[in-house]
Amino acid sequence: MNVNDVLMNVYGRAAADCTNEEIYAALLRKVNELASEKASPTGKKKLYYISAEFLIGKLLSNNLINLGIYDDVKNQLAESGKDICQIEEIENEPSLGNGGLGRLAACFLDSIATLGLNGDGIGLNYHYGLFRQVFRDNAQTTIPDKWLSENCWLNKTDKVYPVKFGGIEVSARLYEINVTGYDSVTNKLRLFDIEGIDESIVTDGIDFDKMEIGKNLTLFLYPDDSDENGRLLRIYQQYFMVSAGAQLILDECTARGCTLRDLDDYAVIQINDTHPTMVIPELIRLLIQRGIDIDEAIEIVSRTCAYTNHTILAEALEKWNISQLKKVVPQLVPIIEILDDKVRRKFDEPAVHIIDKDDRVHMAHIDIHYSFSVNGVASLHTEILKNEELNHFYKLYPEKFNNKTNGITFRRWLMHSNPELSAYITELIGDGWKKDADELEKLLEYRNDKEVLIKLLDIKQNKKIQLKNYLSAKQGIEINENSVFDIQIKRLHEYKRQQLNALYVIHKYLEIKSGKKPVRPITVIFGAKAAPAYIIAQDIIHLILCLQELIANDPEVKPYLNVVMVENYNVTLAEKLIPACDISEQISLASKEASGTGNMKFMLNGAVTLGTEDGANVEIHQLAGDDNIYIFGDDSETVVERYKKASYKAKEYYTKNKAIKSAVDFIIGEELMELGDKERLERLFKELTGKDWFMTFPDFDSYLKAREKAYADYEDRIEWAEKMLVNIAKAGYFSSDRTIAEYNKDIWKL
Ligand SMILES: *Cc1c(COP(=O)(O)O)cnc(C)c1O
Repeated sequence: MNVNDVLMNVYGRAAADCTNEEIYAALLRKVNELASEKASPTGKKKLYYISAEFLIGKLLSNNLINLGIYDDVKNQLAESGKDICQIEEIENEPSLGNGGLGRLAACFLDSIATLGLNGDGIGLNYHYGLFRQVFRDNAQTTIPDKWLSENCWLNKTDKVYPVKFGGIEVSARLYEINVTGYDSVTNKLRLFDIEGIDESIVTDGIDFDKMEIGKNLTLFLYPDDSDENGRLLRIYQQYFMVSAGAQLILDECTARGCTLRDLDDYAVIQINDTHPTMVIPELIRLLIQRGIDIDEAIEIVSRTCAYTNHTILAEALEKWNISQLKKVVPQLVPIIEILDDKVRRKFDEPAVHIIDKDDRVHMAHIDIHYSFSVNGVASLHTEILKNEELNHFYKLYPEKFNNKTNGITFRRWLMHSNPELSAYITELIGDGWKKDADELEKLLEYRNDKEVLIKLLDIKQNKKIQLKNYLSAKQGIEINENSVFDIQIKRLHEYKRQQLNALYVIHKYLEIKSGKKPVRPITVIFGAKAAPAYIIAQDIIHLILCLQELIANDPEVKPYLNVVMVENYNVTLAEKLIPACDISEQISLASKEASGTGNMKFMLNGAVTLGTEDGANVEIHQLAGDDNIYIFGDDSETVVERYKKASYKAKEYYTKNKAIKSAVDFIIGEELMELGDKERLERLFKELTGKDWFMTFPDFDSYLKAREKAYADYEDRIEWAEKMLVNIAKAGYFSSDRTIAEYNKDIWKL
């Protein structure tokens, strides 16, 4: 592609005379065209990856890389005095996901296309995405995240499907985003949007009339569900997605020659978590409508659907009341009752029934009974599903259960986010790793090569300076590039234990105050959005922001410790933060994090993990080896046992352990109370000392010890660089190309 020709065509001017906005708009159109012209995979059977979230991130660079023209375009722009990074900045990040689950779906689409597989994503086109996070008075506030614009990657189609609810009928318009594979085919992300959406009904932050379904349906992802109308809106959204999706799937399959009875020869539907569960009864309903009897329809759909479980947190497993479903999707209720009835006739055990004694419908139970595959997302997670959470189901259907350890696309999380490291890896071992990530192991040959290790440290330092400049320019945050960068970025949740990290910060602050100074300054970086209705999560954000302010204004502590919370953590920020990280905080309570994928991105970029034996950390530990990771805390068996016995008493740790007591008391001490919100800090104090449901105290001492050890080891720069190298070399396993190849071999069989 000749960039000047493209621009001359559109504006009659060459790159040097165009604004960055103009260049972005013209490149977007051209790249979109090139992507569309690429072959789409063919084949009788097609995968539909259906998900309420696709956290795809910005697409310009990603598409340029996948089309193989990134360097060329970058160089052409540079010759005209234009910086491709500045042009990238123009693009709005589509905020169509919350966190890990949505990002996983996006990585998977990249790998599905890269492996040349015939598979599309199906989801919703939320106009305001999740929300944009803004800090005010040391607290999170939320405003709409308006990402849609004239210049975005969304292509409107003329496909429209009717979707009928209890009260009203609406129209679902199909939009599409091209999904380019790396040096491969183009697939599509198909996003449905309601015709007649009305953005003007959003008032005051992210509030809107939740009853106006015809106007609000696709405004936000997961609107506040703390009240009944919010919960009903979620059901409306879910049914809207699966009903339009099911109609699309049946249309496409019949167009390819499917007679419906052989649907599973033409389609496989991967259900990403329980949000799309209603696709099962909806497909059954549509098949019945088209003349198939119910028993056969159930068989056909069960052979076509596969389910991925993402959580063992009981409170995160979706349950809807029959009364709610009757209101929103009355046409599905008789089908769900029949599905439940069939289960009851076969199995006495109430734990596996679909409708419980309180008339609540357990969505995951529909998925497990009526799909042919149930997978967890990391080996520990799958084992816990089989032996604990879903044991009753495992005993019924051992053959359905399987593990697919998550992965990430190296195109975005190394080639794009860290071109310097990518180029150096290629210099050392060639570029075979871009298509076969296992080749990264060739780097091990250099683990004792001092020149290579020094170069790795140089690249890291360079990325730290880039981050420093970015945060300074974009968020007014100042950090010291010669400090250790210790980073925890992920959704805010008590099980992820940002509060444990915050307690460490307080502990360090108190140490410095008492004269014990760290040998090297420490920069602790947080990034996290919290669900608006999740009060304790808001309180933890408040604590961190108060600590940030307190320390920034304390000349005694400030030179040694810096705490910063970046605003509006998203994919774009992750791409800047991760390559600059020294220590990756993966400190969830063992057994609670299904997998994590942030942990993999950090590893790939040469950060060393400080973590619990949880989720995919277990596999990172096995791959990197004891010397190249800092593991602490109780293991999952201990934790599971402690929950079973209900034996944990936070108060006992608090009264017996002086370090814990000092840190926790500080939350309601003079310094923070003066600065912060009394109610929030007191509530958090009470939560920790009275309950501490995610058991931060039992892991506190071992966390301290591991963290201090990591900081001490960091001072032997060459030894540290060897740890970095081993982590990078062993990260190949976490390529989503590997994950997707496994899904295809074991489940999809495309
Ligand atoms: C990778 C990613 C996540 C998931 O992070 P975890 O640490 O695995 O929870 C969340 N948000 C964004 C923006 C990401 O890129």
